[in-house]
Amino acid sequence: MFRLQDILYYCMHPFRLKQLTVLSYILIIILLAGCGAKKTLRGVFKQQTPYERYASSLKDANLHETALGSSWLQAGEKALQDSLHINLPFKEVGYFAADKPKAHSYRFTGKQGLKIVVNLETKPEDAARVYMDLYEVTAGATSSLNYLTYADTVSSSIEFEVEENQTYLLRIQPELLRSLQYTLTIKTQPTLAFPVPSKKNRGIDSFWGDPRDGGSRNHEGVDIFAPRGAPAIAAVDGIVTRVGTNRLGGNVVWLSDAKRRQNLYYAHLDKQLVTAGQRVQVGDTIGLIGNTGNARHTKPHLHFGIYRSGHGATNPAPYISMPRQTPPAITADLSRLGGWVRITPKMANVRLVPSTKSNVYMSLPQHTPLLVLGGTSSWYRVQLPDGTESYVATSIVESIAKPIRQQKLSAGTDLLADAVPLAAPQDSLTAGSNVAVLAIYNNYSLVRSHNGSTGWISSI
Ligand SMILES: [Zn+2]
Repeated sequence: MFRLQDILYYCMHPFRLKQLTVLSYILIIILLAGCGAKKTLRGVFKQQTPYERYASSLKDANLHETALGSSWLQAGEKALQDSLHINLPFKEVGYFAADKPKAHSYRFTGKQGLKIVVNLETKPEDAARVYMDLYEVTAGATSSLNYLTYADTVSSSIEFEVEENQTYLLRIQPELLRSLQYTLTIKTQPTLAFPVPSKKNRGIDSFWGDPRDGGSRNHEGVDIFAPRGAPAIAAVDGIVTRVGTNRLGGNVVWLSDAKRRQNLYYAHLDKQLVTAGQRVQVGDTIGLIGNTGNARHTKPHLHFGIYRSGHGATNPAPYISMPRQTPPAITADLSRLGGWVRITPKMANVRLVPSTKSNVYMSLPQHTPLLVLGGTSSWYRVQLPDGTESYVATSIVESIAKPIRQQKLSAGTDLLADAVPLAAPQDSLTAGSNVAVLAIYNNYSLVRSHNGSTGWISSI
């Protein structure tokens, strides 16, 4: 639904701009016109995400026909096609510039049994609304996207549990004409509580699939050793469905986890402390650890199993063991965000994953300029002048502050805003004037003119 505060937000927010260009004034007027009553009907018929609502508000205000509005919409579409892939846990500090509409996307793999927590912080805090949209990437010849959920900076976190191993795509995009820095963190947690609270390190001593009975069957759970009489606790809120005894498991308890359509199995208990039909909460004691059943010649331990509806026995390890919590520290120089760096060695590799273990995406020659969009661990998220994005190791790029060489212009030329044939001239340079060459990309040089302005000149 279209809420009143959203409309007010769209209508009031542009006034927070510090530097208003004439273009911005025009935009604001159009936006205000777009914040009229006719818009409020949208959403009555169809539930829209905040991103769709904002995109609609641009269209309603005819902003999608302006260069700025259409490039905002295109940036959002392009980000869905990008294939930068990250490993979890992940932390990146990045930058969005007001004058170049842009969206960043991140593909990552979620492992079954994990809970994924995405969090976005922006600086300055009220700089802009940032839209976060999460998609499932469905496998196939051409991968496609299933929309999952969203958050914006009003509620800037997304938490979800992974039911099956799955690739996800997260897109973040700020509203128009806003510059801001963001910190994106994506962490993983186990879905369930650890069933033996005395085991602080969440150690599992025998794993899923280990051979049993001379290899005639496989281990359909995990074993957690603990002193006899230590409590085994409910790993979920649920209902005890069965309390009984069997040959292999000895004293056993079944606990239904209806929310996830699965049953938890506790075996070899010394004592059962619940009854069938009893409702329990995470942390309630189910029974005491022992070595009943076929564990009578083994030290006391809990055998813990998960049986999923429609799937049967499932490896419990990712559901309960603690994955690495802290993303690697960011050592990339964040003062470079939003600025250019250039390749230092003769040739250097850029990658789609910020890891040297990943495939090389492209090899770039010395002095190639890269716009720094973000920093994660010892990598920069960068963009080539043609818009291609990748990750580059911080050790193979350098600042462009010091010129490669000075060049005397033999003829007058335009100083261009971008390294493309139809780029807008932002200054004109006269024949005989000197420029400092900062980086080289195909047939263009990034230069600083004698009056200090930076731009591109064609080298042909
Ligand atoms: Zn076992």
